[in-house]
Amino acid sequence: MAVLVTGGAGYIGSHTVAEFIDKGEEIVVLDNLQKGHRNAVLSGAFYQGDIRDSEILEKVFSNHDIEAVIHFAADSLVGESVQEPLKYYDNNLITAQRLLVCMVKYGVKKIVFSSTAATYGEPESIPIRETDRKVPTNPYGETKLAIETMLKWCEQAYGTQSVALRYFNAAGAHVDGHIGEDHRPESHLIPIILQVAAGQREVLAVFGDDYPTADGTCIRDYIHVTDLANAHWLALQKLRKTGESAVYNLGNGEGFSVREVVEKARVITGHSIPLQIVLRRGGDPAILVASSRKAQEELGWKPQFNSLGQIIQSAWNWHKNHPKGFDSIK
Ligand code: UDP
Repeated sequence: MAVLVTGGAGYIGSHTVAEFIDKGEEIVVLDNLQKGHRNAVLSGAFYQGDIRDSEILEKVFSNHDIEAVIHFAADSLVGESVQEPLKYYDNNLITAQRLLVCMVKYGVKKIVFSSTAATYGEPESIPIRETDRKVPTNPYGETKLAIETMLKWCEQAYGTQSVALRYFNAAGAHVDGHIGEDHRPESHLIPIILQVAAGQREVLAVFGDDYPTADGTCIRDYIHVTDLANAHWLALQKLRKTGESAVYNLGNGEGFSVREVVEKARVITGHSIPLQIVLRRGGDPAILVASSRKAQEELGWKPQFNSLGQIIQSAWNWHKNHPKGFDSIK
């Protein structure tokens, strides 16, 4: 029996594939390589294609005895989703619907779904708990929340068992150094800071310093990508054991402002990292910090790389050795 990982060549997907391979799982990856990198996936069967292409989806499900799906394939940029909402309804919501249709057809009942802290919108309290109010402030969060709801109805109708994992801010790189973060164009805070430190950019544009936080910049909960990857494996174990659907937050429970992240990166890289304050980015809540107590209690999840310093250091190691990201790997 194999585990299908959609979007397995992407950032969190590829780290999850590495974690599952380490655990001895049989993996099949389906990725359209629009954002992912073929050389981020070192083993397992690989299919290049889009979930909305029914031919390739049928091929994957008929060629392999799929036991469960880990579903990453999606667009995931808050700012872009505000500019191009229909792209997000298409690539996130419709894609998930097509995947579920195929899962139902082939009798595949387990799915671990890549959800997000953006489902909450402006939090009602900090740290955020899974049961808190969810009013997304951007189409990215809205489409992910809609998929969570779709999964709930699929359980009732078809017996689909799901775990939705609401990630806070994924960051860092695999400690063995073979994979890391490489978005084109890069839009995430830590890799952009490191591009400045490496002399590939002049300055970090800080999106607003007039938020209601101590230093005026947004606060986020940064969580190491390998810790996220491990949570997917634990989530699948839970589904295998209990068959019970659930939703979990995944974060370290500690928030850092943009300025604090920059300060830590200055210490690690030894670079001054100049800043330029620009306008706020649409759709950004001021503070997002997780309570992950539920995941710790029910999944036995315990983040291993839980200091911001460890997270930035691992990202810096990857960046220094791969200045052109996956293009640095021959
Ligand atoms: N951010 C920033 N400048 C950048 C990229 C990000 O000030 O060039 C801020 C962004 O507004 C947010 C935080 O850094 O408050 C993390 O953003 P990122 O895009 O990394 O992750 P997101 O919170 O969107 O998942």
